[in-house]
Amino acid sequence: MTLHFPNMAEPAGRTLGDEEVAALERVIRSGMLNSVWGTEARSLEHEIGELYGSRHAVACSSGTAALHLSVVAAAPDPGDEIITTPITDFGTVAPILAQNAVPVFADVDPSDGNLDPDAVAALIGPRTRAIMAVHLFGAPARIGALRALADEHGLTLIEDCAQAWLTELPGGALAGTAGHVGTLSLQQWKHITCGDGGLTVTDDDELARRMRLFADKGWDRAAGRSHESLGLNYRMTELQAAVARAQLAKLPGVVAARRRTAAELVEALRGLDGVLESGVLETGGHGVRGGERAGTGEGRRVIRLPRPDGHAWWLFPLVLPAGDAPELAEHLSAAGIPARPGYLRDPLNRAPLWRRPIYGTSHHPLEGYRPAACPAAERLVDSTLLVIDWNEHYTSEHVAAIADAVRRYRAEA
Ligand SMILES: *Cc1c(COP(=O)(O)O)cnc(C)c1O
Repeated sequence: MTLHFPNMAEPAGRTLGDEEVAALERVIRSGMLNSVWGTEARSLEHEIGELYGSRHAVACSSGTAALHLSVVAAAPDPGDEIITTPITDFGTVAPILAQNAVPVFADVDPSDGNLDPDAVAALIGPRTRAIMAVHLFGAPARIGALRALADEHGLTLIEDCAQAWLTELPGGALAGTAGHVGTLSLQQWKHITCGDGGLTVTDDDELARRMRLFADKGWDRAAGRSHESLGLNYRMTELQAAVARAQLAKLPGVVAARRRTAAELVEALRGLDGVLESGVLETGGHGVRGGERAGTGEGRRVIRLPRPDGHAWWLFPLVLPAGDAPELAEHLSAAGIPARPGYLRDPLNRAPLWRRPIYGTSHHPLEGYRPAACPAAERLVDSTLLVIDWNEHYTSEHVAAIADAVRRYRAEA
């Protein structure tokens, strides 16, 4: 028996269909493929603004572009610092470098890999300009505590929601609406896709103005052929926007289906001996210290389940005792289940790039820069974190196969 696990690189693992084909045909037959003069990207922005309840949405060419726009909106001076997480896509960090700002990596909560607000607080200094939080794998980051820090210190809070379409914060608001700017990605591996594409959402008129200008060569189209500020061409095409709009209509179904099967897996694993729930967060931003054997009295092969609250299940993460994640990943892979240890090869504070010049032969303004250690993040990536690919087309059969493989692994202990 080999049960196929649909993935996001094939039709069976996507929601692409007749609606997207019709949308593309509509645009192509209109003769207008560019969003400056077309209607699709502006309509997409309107629809995203409605969904997120935000005054502004700005469409752009990728999630990385959206993050670049958000850093531009925060307006760091060269050398200013932006605090972010070492467990994320490089698209979170590249825009900081592009604006000649300095990424400062804060450590994460070992129970879910999201930024630890206490670690962030300890790194805020006179040059800190912004905090970039990531809702990792679709689990809500501690955004309330981070917003309080941002307000206290006059910082811009950016929420990277590339993995967190329709993630809900405590109280029910959507992730992306609690910070000053939220960003979304439409890249191939996200909940919905148009190949590549991005969006930012904000309620702030001035931040929206800066982002719009930067995405369009600093060109205020109402003012004639004249350039107000530095900008690139980060425009989304009408083709991307039309597909994204068709995908957006399917988003609630995608997230609901992922939530349904993820809840089934949580339920199936919950009953196993040695499988623990990640507890309710303690105050101060510390989650339960998942995956730590010392001092907890937990034996080998203890598995910590993700907290389902608000989760959008981009991936399904598990936290295990040190060293067990690669072992279980191998066991699951052998059973045909798409699971990987660590998510990244290296947390971004340990990426090879910091050892090399960044701009030509120069590091400026990062001379002598070496990111600090982030022990919790390093431990997750090196030995305690396992991620299972998730998909809206999984059925109870897929869930049962995963639960069964975990059960068999534990039986071998
Ligand atoms: C995918 C991703 C990005 C980058 O988005 P692109 O559309 O691929 O540029 C940024 N941050 C996170 C957390 C991501 O998962």
